[in-house]
Amino acid sequence: MKRIYLDYAATTPTDPEVVKAMLPYFTDSFGNPSSIYSYGQENKGAVSESRTKVATLIGARDEEIVFTGGGTEADNAALQGVAFANQSKGNHIITSSIEHHAVIETCEFLDKWGFSTTYLSVDEHGLTDPDEFRNAITDKTILISVMLANNEVGTVEPIAELAGIARKAGILFHTDAVQAVGHIPVDVNALGVDLLSISAHKLNGPKGVGALYIRKGTRLIPFMHGGGQEGRRRAGTENVPGIVGFGRAAELAGQELDQEAERLTNLRERLISGLQERIDHIRLNGHPVNRLPNNVNISVEYVEGESMLLNLDLEGICASSGSACTSGSLEPSHVCLAMGLPHEQAHGSLRLTLGKWTEEQDIERVLEVLPGIVAKLRAMSPLLKSKR
Ligand SMILES: *Cc1c(COP(=O)(O)O)cnc(C)c1O
Repeated sequence: MKRIYLDYAATTPTDPEVVKAMLPYFTDSFGNPSSIYSYGQENKGAVSESRTKVATLIGARDEEIVFTGGGTEADNAALQGVAFANQSKGNHIITSSIEHHAVIETCEFLDKWGFSTTYLSVDEHGLTDPDEFRNAITDKTILISVMLANNEVGTVEPIAELAGIARKAGILFHTDAVQAVGHIPVDVNALGVDLLSISAHKLNGPKGVGALYIRKGTRLIPFMHGGGQEGRRRAGTENVPGIVGFGRAAELAGQELDQEAERLTNLRERLISGLQERIDHIRLNGHPVNRLPNNVNISVEYVEGESMLLNLDLEGICASSGSACTSGSLEPSHVCLAMGLPHEQAHGSLRLTLGKWTEEQDIERVLEVLPGIVAKLRAMSPLLKSKR
């Protein structure tokens, strides 16, 4: 049975082109970029070339990119780094109620150290409200962190507008752009953000490497200690093969972005309308228009998300219920709950995320098998029986 992978928001396969670029840096060119001899120095060059490629993808300057051990580390470094550097100015942080756990749990951690976090609500489509945000700002606010695109429902937030408000108030703005970079155009100056997180494995690069964009002049307390790498902003010997792979992935993503965004949007719309035609009592979660080209998230009434996943898996289809991080637990998704979905629907959410190797026949296959799975599960559903 051919495996159909529709969970690109959880992770993507590493592009063979990327692997090819990485390979020499495991064996032939394994030198430490900090070493004096030319053998190490060559790798310093490879790291700096990758830095340029990543910077180019988001319209940043090379020296504003700090490589990290992934998106989670970038989020932690941004939030903790800004919070501890600005303690004398204030202790208030604003974020949204639909952030990735890397942001939410870092805020919870900071709250234990004397900070205090406000969580902005979202509307039924997952959008934050600029007016609510404006009213949440106090003279103690030192940092705002709102994601660019949501990993569960794909909603793209009005970051340029929010960051404009923050800048007028003199407050630093961070955005977790892990789901957005490489999928939609991202430019740090058009957005007006001070800090932005990226992860390589969400754009066909390797796992365990990412970057934090830090606007020139932004002061952070370093998150890692023990070496002068990355301009003293991230200690530790550079993950040279990972960084080279990330650079190549960023380069490819930039070249393919427009074409892929259009192709995936068409596949997404085919999948959404096909499911709506074939299954009744389903709803699309997230914003109908302001959403990532590759994200489909639906709630199927009277059916548990986990049961759909298991049945899809039997057909060789990899999907996710809500977030990859919460699937496996029986907690409904915090994102669906924040959008005001009742518990049953939050439980019944199914996320299908598309990517570079998704083809039309994969979408047709889902349209062929999912209606039957839903009908079977509904026939057994105590939720549906109680409604009758
Ligand atoms: C995947 C993801 C992260 C975490 O990135 P890792 O590189 O897996 O640590 C953070 N934020 C969002 C929105 C994500 O989708």
